[in-house]
Amino acid sequence: MRSKILLVTAITALFSASSAISQDRWADAKITSQPVSGSVHMLEGMGGNIGVSAGPEGILIIDDQYAPLAEKIAMAIGDISKQPIKYIVNTHYHGDHTGSNAYFAEAKGSTIFAHDNVRKRLADKEDHTHAELPVVTYQQGMTFHFNGDTINVMYMPAGHTDSDSVVWFEEANVLHPGDLFFEGRFPYIDLDGGGTVTGYINNVTKLIGMLKDDTKIIPGHGKLATKADYQKALDMLVDTTAMVKSMKAEGISLDDAVEQGLGEKYTAWAWNFITEEKWISTLYKGL
Ligand SMILES: [Zn+2]
Repeated sequence: MRSKILLVTAITALFSASSAISQDRWADAKITSQPVSGSVHMLEGMGGNIGVSAGPEGILIIDDQYAPLAEKIAMAIGDISKQPIKYIVNTHYHGDHTGSNAYFAEAKGSTIFAHDNVRKRLADKEDHTHAELPVVTYQQGMTFHFNGDTINVMYMPAGHTDSDSVVWFEEANVLHPGDLFFEGRFPYIDLDGGGTVTGYINNVTKLIGMLKDDTKIIPGHGKLATKADYQKALDMLVDTTAMVKSMKAEGISLDDAVEQGLGEKYTAWAWNFITEEKWISTLYKGL
């Protein structure tokens, strides 16, 4: 009996400790802001990087990270401009890019735009709220004529998920490719969310072909980047894909492929979410 009580106490302590940690995680998170080009700014915090167009006609933002960060994000945007946050574009449905949708829709009156599949996939979540769903959806894309820029929102075929859009600011010469770019690290390809390895590589190849040498890129994750950085990521994708493809063709099992690894060249691309093992297994399953 006594040991049972001790066990319960220990478990309770463990749970409250871990919830305290996760609360600290949000409390400690900082949103930093930097100008990119023209009316475009980039916000970094936790989750997907946020693109901001701020000018005389108001504010448009691309993605909005996690719900517990919504007010901090709004404050960081307020430091750039006091104009209303009129429009939100979701690059895809993942929670680290759409988590503050409901806050901006309800507290700021923002209108949310996204591909049809973003709305479908968010609506499929059991615990979704009506306010977080995109209000305007599209099949192929749309164009904002806003703050003196032409802002093209383009749907890309299945890659990171089946709901991916990229945002291209013509005048500012900035691309926000959402999670079709993890700068300097292995990408997450959401095979269960309609993503495909081949589609991901095709999309990145196509996007790089559209860029100028001095285009600035706000990656879904990582630091503000250039075309050369994006090319490095593509080279890694093509090379590691070929490695895993040939291991598979030789009849090497997934476990052995993980054991063999991708070599020292790619050690630095691994990170806490997509370790080398996770990346190899994505390629193995996705090819
Ligand atoms: Zn994502």
